[in-house]
Amino acid sequence: MAKILIVDDTLFMRTMLRKLLEDHGHQVVGEASTGEEAIQKYKILLPDLVTMDITMPDMDGISAAKEIIALDIKAKIIMCSAMGQQLLVLDAIKAGAKDFIVKPFQQERVLEAIKRVL
Ligand SMILES: [Mg+2]
Repeated sequence: MAKILIVDDTLFMRTMLRKLLEDHGHQVVGEASTGEEAIQKYKILLPDLVTMDITMPDMDGISAAKEIIALDIKAKIIMCSAMGQQLLVLDAIKAGAKDFIVKPFQQERVLEAIKRVL
């Protein structure tokens, strides 16, 4: 069972992702609502995979992903982007993020990306 950390500043998105992942046999070990919190929780929880929102109020998900990869070169991060954020996504992939999913999420696509990255 994969341990997943969900990072998103909106409770709605975190709740939706948690339900989808848990319904499909994954273990959500934590949630973070800011980039800083994501980095702190990554260090403590050492998840197998992180879903990382891009747009968050304090530190954006790109910077948070870069910091996590700097801590752990093997970190598996899937970026969660909105339409029109392709350049940011590219930046994250260059920095070492493994894949991306676009909001609004299609369940199949989310599960596929997670399976592939794991
Ligand atoms: Mg957001």
